[in-house]
Amino acid sequence: MIVSRFAPSPTGRLHAGHAASAITAHDFARAHGGRFLLRIEDIDGTRSRPEHVAGIVEDLAWLGLRWDGPVVYQSARLELYRQALDRLRAQGLLYPCFCTRADIAASASAPHGPGGAVYPGTCRALPGDARAARMADPHAWRIDMAAAVAIAGPIDWHDSLAGNVRADPLAQGDVVLARKDAPASYHLAVTIDDAAQGVTDVVRGADLFAATDIHRLLQALLDLPSPRYHHHPLLLGPDGERLAKRSGAPSLAAMRAGGVDGAALATALRTGQRWVGFSVACA
Ligand code: GLU
Repeated sequence: MIVSRFAPSPTGRLHAGHAASAITAHDFARAHGGRFLLRIEDIDGTRSRPEHVAGIVEDLAWLGLRWDGPVVYQSARLELYRQALDRLRAQGLLYPCFCTRADIAASASAPHGPGGAVYPGTCRALPGDARAARMADPHAWRIDMAAAVAIAGPIDWHDSLAGNVRADPLAQGDVVLARKDAPASYHLAVTIDDAAQGVTDVVRGADLFAATDIHRLLQALLDLPSPRYHHHPLLLGPDGERLAKRSGAPSLAAMRAGGVDGAALATALRTGQRWVGFSVACA
């Protein structure tokens, strides 16, 4: 049984790019007689808002999408993430990180990987007593990527458009698996949940392509099954840039208020037609 999902973070209203992604994941499941799940990725307590959850549900219904089973909320699954962290910690693969964003930005040597600045490893080198003395301070947990890669060995994953991909998680450095303000990070929660929910096919935007290297590594370390991946091209605005709220893409709510018909928008997105200035193109 094919299982796909749409997994938005309720940190704002959805725009046409989200709609295209949800429709792609939905139609993939339906075309295979499978299940389509809705998961709200609300572990970010500072940016997630209940009103955005209600907005997402309303927007998907307006587009004519239906999901199977109850909506799953990551904020209700923190215990699962904690267990996974304990397991990785027991393997000696995690270390606490006390750095602030400013500390990291100030590090002259911070190289860049596909996910942005790569953490320079400052806290990995902290001696045990210095670490112990600071454990009451706010800290995140990072993965010691070199150690993790050494345990996992070479790993591959498959993308329906790109084909076989040799994962290179080391290029993204010691990413955060538990944040200072949340007991998990996106990478950890998404990996655990896709496995726990029996997702067979992850259909999502090409902006998350590189993140899959990390998800695949976590699957290997935690003995989780690896789904198939389908990273679809992003919807671009008239300026050729990916749609984003900060660059002025109208929300679905605004389109609806402006008289746009949800079913017609869904059809336009499915058929790749131009729609009020948007076109589907390869990112
Ligand atoms: N929650 C993520 C986002 O809104 C997407 C997660 C995923 O599809 O893996 O960008």
